[in-house]
Amino acid sequence: MRFVSFFVDGKSLAVPEVLKPPDVSAVPVSFHKLQVLDTPDFSEVSPFSAELQASLSGKLLLFEELPYSIDVIHEHYLNGCLAYEKGIEEAGGSFVCKRCGNDKPRLFSSFSCFRCKEKECVYCRKCLVMGRVSQCTPLVRWCGAELEWKLDEVALTWTGELSAAQRKASDGLVSRVGGKGELLIWAVCGAGKTEVLFYGLERALKTGQRVCLATPRTDVVLELLPRLRKVFPGITLAGLYGGSEEKLDGAQLVVSTTHQLFRYRDAFDLVVVDEVDAFPYSYDSSLEHAVHQAKKKDALIVYLSATPGRKMKKRAVAGGLPHVKIPLRFHGFPLPVPRFVWCGNWKKRLKKGRLPGNVMNWVEHQLEVKRQGFLFVPSVVALHQIVALLQAVFPGIEGVHAEDPERKEKVMKFRKGEISILVTTTILERGVTVPFTDVAVFGAEEDIFTESALVQIAGRAGRSKDDPAGEVVFFHYGKTSAMVDAKRHIEGMNREAGL
Ligand SMILES: [Zn+2]
Ligand SMILES: [Zn+2]
Repeated sequence: MRFVSFFVDGKSLAVPEVLKPPDVSAVPVSFHKLQVLDTPDFSEVSPFSAELQASLSGKLLLFEELPYSIDVIHEHYLNGCLAYEKGIEEAGGSFVCKRCGNDKPRLFSSFSCFRCKEKECVYCRKCLVMGRVSQCTPLVRWCGAELEWKLDEVALTWTGELSAAQRKASDGLVSRVGGKGELLIWAVCGAGKTEVLFYGLERALKTGQRVCLATPRTDVVLELLPRLRKVFPGITLAGLYGGSEEKLDGAQLVVSTTHQLFRYRDAFDLVVVDEVDAFPYSYDSSLEHAVHQAKKKDALIVYLSATPGRKMKKRAVAGGLPHVKIPLRFHGFPLPVPRFVWCGNWKKRLKKGRLPGNVMNWVEHQLEVKRQGFLFVPSVVALHQIVALLQAVFPGIEGVHAEDPERKEKVMKFRKGEISILVTTTILERGVTVPFTDVAVFGAEEDIFTESALVQIAGRAGRSKDDPAGEVVFFHYGKTSAMVDAKRHIEGMNREAGL
């Protein structure tokens, strides 16, 4: 877009070209070429749209993400309710995207832009899927009256009970709400970590804080929404994920994928980051950037993890990161400890169209005793070979991987008990909870099975109090330190829990 700028009461105001007053002679230029950019003073008496306020508070959005005409948006700018900010900042010939924080030259491109008429309008490729941030597009931020919520309607209606270990972690969280800094809740798989958050969330919401629960995965957003709606019926709640409808919320409690947080700025007093060690959060530092930008300066960040990464673990152990541990599952039984079983050179065998005998025996045994099982395999290629070999002998076996179009249906069928053995890549290492199931890892020595992946996988077994002693087997062709560390990690947690 092109803007003109001129001085009014000592401030340099920006006006979109299409709204240029007829008596102003300034020449329109691309937004990024404006030398000075001020925002008019906000006045308490300025009228504003409550809907626009709800849509924009705590956000940083493109014009086209707001369902308002340019006249309405600009009127709010003139009233001091919103500010225009540069989307792409340039310093010394290098660029920074103000939305996603990208500063890698190879992730910027330029195009001949019809909106600013520049031959080379630079834009960020990294966050392009969320709408193009280019040099001539301002990002819009709310700076008017703050959102207010009906605090007397905030009440936790949950009637369940916390275990002693959950209670300790919950108290740890509650005592920190209202403060700033970080807290790690280090909870074993199956600890019941969502319930651990309830009282902390209640305290924050009751005191008028805006809260975000961020998770790397859409599945988790969809699972959490109805649970939170049920226990906090009085609050405004929004769920954000790629493809969700609620892009403009104004909600006090936001459940969001980490990616969607790029649209927030200085919004939250409390941010809970779920599965902080999980892909893609752990591999994409821009998501960490998103979390930090979305929170207010004095916010509290709470990390949830069963398997914190090396750096985080080190900080926690050294005392640099306050943390509470839940070493015990909510049902009070120990975590199943993996058993290592050598299965020979399975790659060679697969080439010959055969599976290791002990793996075949494991599958046969599961079917005989009518227990379901996950068989984790290291790659999609191995998955197809193994599934074909198993299906030739045993009925009721299916395979699933990330790109599988029937992924959702197959997981659903497995939950219902219609599939006996589900062969899977590591996509199901987290989140999927099926009460009566055992777990085996095929080729556990492969690099993809890191310590944390193996701990998460082992955590799929024994989730129900009616079946707490699920079995975990690692079939391998040579023990790795990841396998040994995973076993040690699990035994350590059991020891810490006094089991
Ligand atoms: Zn960007
Ligand atoms: Zn442009």
